[in-house]
Amino acid sequence: MIEKVPVLVTGGAGYIGSHAVLALADAGWPVAVIDNFSTGFRFAIPAGVPVYEGDIEDGALLARIFAEQCTRAIIHFAGSIVVPESVSDPLKYYHNNTVKSRALIAAAVTAGVPHFIFSSTAVTYGEPETSPVTEDSPKRPINPYGMSKLMTEHMLADTARAHPLNYCALRYFNVAGADPAARSGQSTVGATHLIKIAVEAALGKRSHVGVFGTDYETPDGTGVRDYIHVADLADAHVLALGALLAEPQRSLTMNCGYGRGFSVLEVLDAVDRVTNLKLDRRIEPRRPGDAGSLVSDNRLIRATLPWQPRFADLDTIVGHALAWERRLGEIRGEG
Ligand code: UDP
Repeated sequence: MIEKVPVLVTGGAGYIGSHAVLALADAGWPVAVIDNFSTGFRFAIPAGVPVYEGDIEDGALLARIFAEQCTRAIIHFAGSIVVPESVSDPLKYYHNNTVKSRALIAAAVTAGVPHFIFSSTAVTYGEPETSPVTEDSPKRPINPYGMSKLMTEHMLADTARAHPLNYCALRYFNVAGADPAARSGQSTVGATHLIKIAVEAALGKRSHVGVFGTDYETPDGTGVRDYIHVADLADAHVLALGALLAEPQRSLTMNCGYGRGFSVLEVLDAVDRVTNLKLDRRIEPRRPGDAGSLVSDNRLIRATLPWQPRFADLDTIVGHALAWERRLGEIRGEG
């Protein structure tokens, strides 16, 4: 039985971070949050969890949190995540994702916090030549977002060699869905992700869904992605934490996906099934930079952690996203 040590979650008011906080709290881990609330929401953090409003660049604040909370592990989600913005404003990404991660890692080393989990991304692979993608596939990010994340992976690898710290980098595929009890979900205004857009359209917040390209080398010509339910992803973080504690000499880098893909049209069909409506689909040109197919090879995480995905069914993912979208409307007082 692993001792449940105090965990600090950075970006715990954000989409994935808030689900990790829920998973940790539900499993009985002492958890605290630091968030600068640039994109996160207070309503996403469960009551009773200590929240520090501030920046991970603030070494004095981190030192105080580590002391007050007796922090023994960090799960690091805080960062910027909009790929096109990273192209137009690369230095923002190298600052928020790379420079600030460096400050956080340095604070962890100084305070002797021994375990670190990092929110990485399949975007580090760039446009993979083969799909499914294994962890040792070439990492050739095609945008500053992916590069800013990959640089942090390298910092962690080098730091773990030099200092008493082990880490786990989890490379997420397409994260979707929401807490099954609708305590949190994807709340970003102006989101660009397919399932979020499709459920917004189903609730009448949008007139239609654009299908970005129908001439990819995929079975129906539309883009194929490995959609992973955010609650299963959150569970993977909790299990990864257990693995870091159990083997303090071992660091891990693992894909997080289900190892199977759905096309854009298959996702929209699922939304139709779940809602009993028929979404208006409009064929549009390819979105620049989109790969045809991006699917994980997830054998490593399955062999390493006792991870049992609970919500892999696409209709379940869509159903939870839809329930959250409705709840979000209530929170925001819409309709
Ligand atoms: N997509 C689409 N219409 C949209 C949003 C996305 O056709 O309104 C497609 C996109 O081209 C890709 C897939 O859906 O093939 C997933 O895109 P998303 O933005 O959700 O995630 P990404 O894979 O780009 O991180």
